[in-house]
Amino acid sequence: MVKICCIGAGYVGGPTMAVIALKCPAVEVVVVDISVARITAWNSEQLPIYEPGLDDVVKQCRGRNLFFSTDIEKHIARADIIFVSVNTPTKTRGLGAGKAADLTYWENAARMIADVAKGDKIVVEKSTVPVKTAEAIEKILIHNSRGVNFQILSNPEFLAEGTAIQDLFSPDRVLIGGRETPEGKKAVQALKQVYANWVPEDRIITTNLWSAELSKLAANAFLAQRISSVNAISALCEATGADVAEVAYAIGKDTRIGPRFLSASVGFGGSCFQKDILNLVYICECHGLPEVANYWKDVIKINDYQKSRFVNRVVSSMFNTVSEKKIAVLGFAFKKDTGDTRETPAIDVCKGLLGDKAKVCVYDPQVTEEQIQRDLALNKFDWDHPLHLQPMGATEVKPVAVTRDAYEATKGAHAVCILTEWDEFKKLDYVRIYEGMQKPAFIFDGRNVVDAQQLREIGFIVYSIGKPLDS
Ligand code: NAD
Repeated sequence: MVKICCIGAGYVGGPTMAVIALKCPAVEVVVVDISVARITAWNSEQLPIYEPGLDDVVKQCRGRNLFFSTDIEKHIARADIIFVSVNTPTKTRGLGAGKAADLTYWENAARMIADVAKGDKIVVEKSTVPVKTAEAIEKILIHNSRGVNFQILSNPEFLAEGTAIQDLFSPDRVLIGGRETPEGKKAVQALKQVYANWVPEDRIITTNLWSAELSKLAANAFLAQRISSVNAISALCEATGADVAEVAYAIGKDTRIGPRFLSASVGFGGSCFQKDILNLVYICECHGLPEVANYWKDVIKINDYQKSRFVNRVVSSMFNTVSEKKIAVLGFAFKKDTGDTRETPAIDVCKGLLGDKAKVCVYDPQVTEEQIQRDLALNKFDWDHPLHLQPMGATEVKPVAVTRDAYEATKGAHAVCILTEWDEFKKLDYVRIYEGMQKPAFIFDGRNVVDAQQLREIGFIVYSIGKPLDS
């Protein structure tokens, strides 16, 4: 029986390994993590992450051939294939701070593998890492082990949160990069065999190590660039009377462009797009390619611009001040069908509104109050209210109010900002919401999910991204 160990039981490690276990009953999969809380949750009825379909998959194979454990060393020692799916955030200090990937977690994992491994191992980069990381990992492994043969593979993950299980069941492609030596090719074949249990052969792409590593960064940069492109057009639409949905439809009909990923919004979020573009920018700079670095930097600049443009629109529409006005924020997760709030545009939007002294009240169906308060407390405000600068926990001050119901959030509010495209926001009783709000009642739809015309008929003043403005 092939034994797999995955280091890192997060948004990628957990679902990815659950699907491998489901699709490969003859493979034993153990997911390990340093976080006791995360492993406890994976072993409970309340999984640590919300992802449609995940509960079902885990239920089918947990205890059969899928296990979650904190006994990292034991499971590394037993495994034939070790996936490393630890976090690779942006460095916050030192060389490359604010851009380069922080590979501390990766390095720790590699050193542990080297310490523990007694027999030959295939080590798979599942995390998103800078191109050439495999070379560094090889050095750490080889210099810290005693005669063990390690083969490093790059197998970046392309799943999207919110559709992770669907993406894993039917991936557009699985990418495996390896060394072009006989041992390297053998390792690629071994991993290919795992995926071949359910992924059609023509969707499994093999490349050299560096192409695989760079493809992941490039894929995220292209996806983010597409969002920034349509968002840049949305600003021009608002200035000219064009409608971004019509423009997106028209350009998406061109088969060279295609219709997907062309929805204008308040901006992209999530733990990956910004981090991976910054990483790409840093790599370009290190290779003496500042023009290329600047090209990708602009994708992030437009995203930041879109978020601040949204806040400015809210404030300017509401007679240039939101001071002491209640604003209901519907949606805090960075996209629907996830509880993940990493880099969510909602943080910047709330921060902007709070900066103008609004009273913000948030509702999100999957994000806990604790998470929302922590995200906002961790992000420093430019407020002049000294209480807000105190760290969370030291006082009872909470940056925003949080409700477990959209109606409670909107009651008495001057405005509603929709920041996540949750389906339930399309089905709310907006007549009831309108009746409970201050007048004039504004809706700022940061995801273009509600029917603006219907809302106008109720009496709302509506702002949709990239659409003609209400006079
Ligand atoms: P995450 O923060 O949810 O999970 C990482 C886990 O690794 C954490 O639980 C952490 O405790 C654990 N960890 C860190 N060091 C460890 C160690 N030495 N031993 C054991 N466990 C350790 O991160 P994630 O969202 O799953 O992302 C993981 C990687 O995958 C990142 O590089 C990310 O860029 C990439 N990725 C993420 C997504 C996504 O949608 N989240 C998609 C594709 C790729």
